[in-house]
Amino acid sequence: MLLTITTTHQPATDLGFLLHKNPDRHQSAVLSFGTAHVFYPEAMVDRCTAAVLVEVDPVDLVRNHRGPSGGAASLGQYVNDRPYAASSHLSAAINKLFGTALSGRCKERPELVEVRMPFEVRLPALPVRGDADLLQRIFEPIGYHVEATPIALDVEFPNWGMSRYFDVRLTTTTRLRDLLEQLLVLVPVLDDAKHYWVGSEEIDRLLRRGGEWLSTHPERELIANRYLRHDRVLTNQALERLLDVEDIAEIEGAHDNAEEAVERPISLNEQRIAAVVNEVKACGARRVLDLGCGSAKVIRALLSDTNAEKVVGVDVSYRSLEAGARRLHLDTMTPRQRERVDLWHGSLTYRDRRLEGFDAAVVVEVIEHLDPSRLSSFERVIFAHASPRVVVVTTPNVEYNVRFEGLATGALRHPDHRFEWTRTDFAQWAEAVASRHGYHVTFAGIGPDDPEVGAPTQMAVFRR
Ligand code: SAH
Repeated sequence: MLLTITTTHQPATDLGFLLHKNPDRHQSAVLSFGTAHVFYPEAMVDRCTAAVLVEVDPVDLVRNHRGPSGGAASLGQYVNDRPYAASSHLSAAINKLFGTALSGRCKERPELVEVRMPFEVRLPALPVRGDADLLQRIFEPIGYHVEATPIALDVEFPNWGMSRYFDVRLTTTTRLRDLLEQLLVLVPVLDDAKHYWVGSEEIDRLLRRGGEWLSTHPERELIANRYLRHDRVLTNQALERLLDVEDIAEIEGAHDNAEEAVERPISLNEQRIAAVVNEVKACGARRVLDLGCGSAKVIRALLSDTNAEKVVGVDVSYRSLEAGARRLHLDTMTPRQRERVDLWHGSLTYRDRRLEGFDAAVVVEVIEHLDPSRLSSFERVIFAHASPRVVVVTTPNVEYNVRFEGLATGALRHPDHRFEWTRTDFAQWAEAVASRHGYHVTFAGIGPDDPEVGAPTQMAVFRR
């Protein structure tokens, strides 16, 4: 199978520096399924083309059970399209050959990494499973111009019609690393097949490669679903995390461009954070706990928008806390700011004396991750022992789920949610908790208030 990447950026031979592959030499890499070669059919100042040729051994694929369909050996397995068609084998080859370029490094000419260059990509045999316009729907939203010629099943028998293979020419102006990342993700998506087993680590890979452009891509569901081999649980997790990426980008973007932010309807996540922060401000809390703080989105808002002297985040997930430390830039904070914040590893279902002596606690989108049988422990730890004056709890309002397009009937919003409550469920729980521990509780909705099903998020504020 073949892929060529051409640029007319000047000097075009910069492509060699960016790809970390010298245009004067032919280079090869051995992969588990065959050999990948890079060479330059042309390397002039005004035009330079790098070609990737991947030789796949179809017989070896079958013998080593790496074939496209598994099961008993049949002629179909030996005679398959994998040597010719651009597929996940090509992605693996790109990954292996251009690891340095993909990671955004360029030793000799670091400044080139960020340069947007004109590129032309040719994929002479790209298999496309799906509607005729799929190529356009996938590539155009991320800035490609697509020219695709369907390949006849057999040139000698035109009445056999067209195959699912296209001779594709893509043109765009972008950074090379973005181009490579997009090909890496999208070629197997179009083919709708992968030569390797897909596990949860593949979500990380998808988000690493696709984080920025995929979160706003109109076909992100199809892309995630196919990339993760139609595994529903993995796909849901990936989409949820992509929403996260989008939220972060939105919040950060809002700071950059305040005017645009005013005009754009704010995301549910921003509204939730704003509502919670408002409650903390309103009660004038000095010492604040963020319980189940995750990657510290709420903490960041508490630090910038309230006068709290101390904000402490607690989470069971060490990885989330690490992400939180990065989001808050803990290591480069001024000593005064650093004094204001702490992140603690801990569980909300075991008594922890460190949680005592705070004015307020916020528990944002956490209780639905607790097993129902652990709710009474959570209640004791927070309301009986830690016992801050104010506790703010938010959780999804399950009634609103019917308004989310793309959420199957009866499905919960996140695979890790143990339950999602109606407004009545939440009120019953919260009122019982309040009365057992001497609190008074009020309720509010967050997000668009639907006359029938209420708002997407519900919030309870407990005060004593
Ligand atoms: N409050 C954050 C994160 C919500 S996700 C936000 O709104 O952005 C739910 C978080 O609760 C996860 O980070 C999860 O690790 C944490 N969590 C779940 N069970 C927990 C427990 N028993 N103790 C502490 N944290 C818990």
